[in-house]
Amino acid sequence: MHLVINKREAGIFNAVKEISGVDVAGCLQCKKCTNGCPVAKLVKVPPSEIIRRLQFNECDSIINSDLVWMCASCDTCFSRCPMQIDMAAVMDALRIISIRKNTVKQKGNIPLFNKWFLKTVSIFGRTYDLGMIAAYKVGTSNYFQDVDKFPMMLQKRKIALFPSFKADKKYVKKIFKNRKSRNNNQDIE
Ligand code: SF4
Ligand code: SF4
Repeated sequence: MHLVINKREAGIFNAVKEISGVDVAGCLQCKKCTNGCPVAKLVKVPPSEIIRRLQFNECDSIINSDLVWMCASCDTCFSRCPMQIDMAAVMDALRIISIRKNTVKQKGNIPLFNKWFLKTVSIFGRTYDLGMIAAYKVGTSNYFQDVDKFPMMLQKRKIALFPSFKADKKYVKKIFKNRKSRNNNQDIE
């Protein structure tokens, strides 16, 4: 059973489909995603409700939802979903839409973290934790939080001093370029 979407109001529904390739029309509202989601209890609007609101094109209430920025992309929901709806991809799309519409919540530093995470991937072809953390700390002006953990992380090789030189930078840059031009060509109401 597929929900019929009113074409006149199909803005965010279509935008998410265009960006992520995920069609949420088939969602059965079984809530298996919500029941397995590790952050569902911490957010006001759980994953199944995000999908429901998407089906009804409730753009503002969706992109202002805390789950959009708290989703850990763990794919637990995807593995449980009988309709194979890729929720993490939907959340990625919603973050892109939120940034494009300039509605990113000022509260909290998650958008800043995401920005520098992606920036290091686009520059080095892989994530570069130290560079990302340094840029993030400059952005938050919170220079000393958690610095005591740094020696232990270095010792246990959880963090590298230098970026990886093995990444295919050209290929990754191409992905970012394609994604950027694709996003620029999309019209979101
Ligand atoms: S598990 Fe899938 S079908 Fe069920 S509510 Fe979540 S998204 Fe919809
Ligand atoms: S991918 Fe996001 S929405 Fe899905 S279970 Fe993980 S945290 Fe929850």
